[in-house]
Amino acid sequence: MTVRTRADLVALPAYVPGKTIPGAIKLASNEVSAGPLPSVVRAIADAATAVNRYPDTAATELVARLSDKLGVPTEQVVVGCGSVTLCQQLVQATCTEADEVVFAWRSFEAYPIITAVVGAQQTRVPLTSGHELDLDAMADAITPRTRLVFVCTPNNPTGTALRRADIERFIERVPSDVLVVIDEAYREFVDDPDVPDGVESAKEQWAAGRDNVAVLRTFSKAYGLAGLRVGYAVASPAVAEALRKVYVPFGVNALAQVAAMASLDAEAELMARCRAIVAERARVRGELLEAGFEVPESQANFVWLPLGERTAAFNEHCLAQKVIVRAFVGDGARVTIGEPEENNAFLAAAKSFAG
Ligand SMILES: *Cc1c(COP(=O)(O)O)cnc(C)c1O
Repeated sequence: MTVRTRADLVALPAYVPGKTIPGAIKLASNEVSAGPLPSVVRAIADAATAVNRYPDTAATELVARLSDKLGVPTEQVVVGCGSVTLCQQLVQATCTEADEVVFAWRSFEAYPIITAVVGAQQTRVPLTSGHELDLDAMADAITPRTRLVFVCTPNNPTGTALRRADIERFIERVPSDVLVVIDEAYREFVDDPDVPDGVESAKEQWAAGRDNVAVLRTFSKAYGLAGLRVGYAVASPAVAEALRKVYVPFGVNALAQVAAMASLDAEAELMARCRAIVAERARVRGELLEAGFEVPESQANFVWLPLGERTAAFNEHCLAQKVIVRAFVGDGARVTIGEPEENNAFLAAAKSFAG
C-alpha cells in the first residue's frame, strides 16, 4: 500500500526556482550578485563554532536590533525563516478552509502555493494594463470570507510600486478585521519619494486604532543573505502574537541570526551597493526602451519585460547567450539587475533578439 497524502496536493503547482547553470550569468532570482561582505563572512565563521547548540528561538538580539532600527516595540517584530515562511505563517494564523486570501496576479509566485498548502481559498485579481496592482479591484474582491490580502510593493515580478495616496485609500476600504500584508521584499531599492515606507504607513494605521496592517521585509535581497533564510514581519501586537503561535520552533538558524546582525552593522556599505543597483536599473531600462521593448518603471532590483507569447523564445535566446532570466511563459520575463558586466551581457542578448 502507498501512503495516502492529501488528494488536493496533486493539483498543486511546484514553486519554480530560478535556474543555476555552471558558467552562465544568473539574473533569475533577484539575488545581489556581489558576495557577502568580509565582515559578514567573519561573523558567520565565528558563529559556526557554536552550532552544536540550538539557536535562540525568539532571536532576541536580532529582534531588539530591528525594533531599534524601525522604531517599533520588540513585541511587534517577528523574525522568520525567510519572509516567504512569514507569508505562510500569516495565512496559517488567519485562515482555515472556508476563508479566502486575495492577491494580485501576477505577483509573488509563492502566494498561491502557500494559500493552497494551508488549505484556504484564493482570489487572484488581474494587474492593470500598466502592470500595476489594481487596488480598487482588489478592494472589490474582498468578501465576508476574506481574511488576508497580500499587497506586494514593489511587485514581484513587474517591479511597479504603489504610491502613498493609493495605499491609504485602499486601507480605508478594507474592513478592519481583514489583514493587509504589505510585502516589501524590495523596499531598499525604492528611490521614488512618493512610494511610502510600509512600516511608517503601518504605524500611522496602528496609531489610528487599526491593527490590520502588517509589513514583511527580508535579508535575502538588498542584504545579500538569500542562502541563509531570514526575514521579518512588523505587525500589531495581536498579529505578532498570532505569528509566534504558528512558528515552527528554531526556524531561524543561528548563523542566519548572526549574519543578519552583522549586515545591520554594515548597513551603510550594503545600501551603497543598492544605490549602484538602482543606477544600473535606470541604465538597463533606458537601453531596453531604446531597443523597442516595453518595460514598466521598476522600483526593485529587476525589470519586467511583458513579452506575452514571445516570452519562451526570448528565454531560449538568452539561455543560448548564457544569460539566465526568469521566464513566466506566455506572460513575460523578469530580469534581475546584476553587476554592470552581467547587465551588459543581458543587454547584448536582448538587443539581438528578433522574436
Ligand atoms: C524574494 C521574495 C520574498 C521572500 O524572501 P525570503 O528569501 O523568503 O525572505 C518575499 N516576497 C517577495 C515578493 C519576494 O520577491
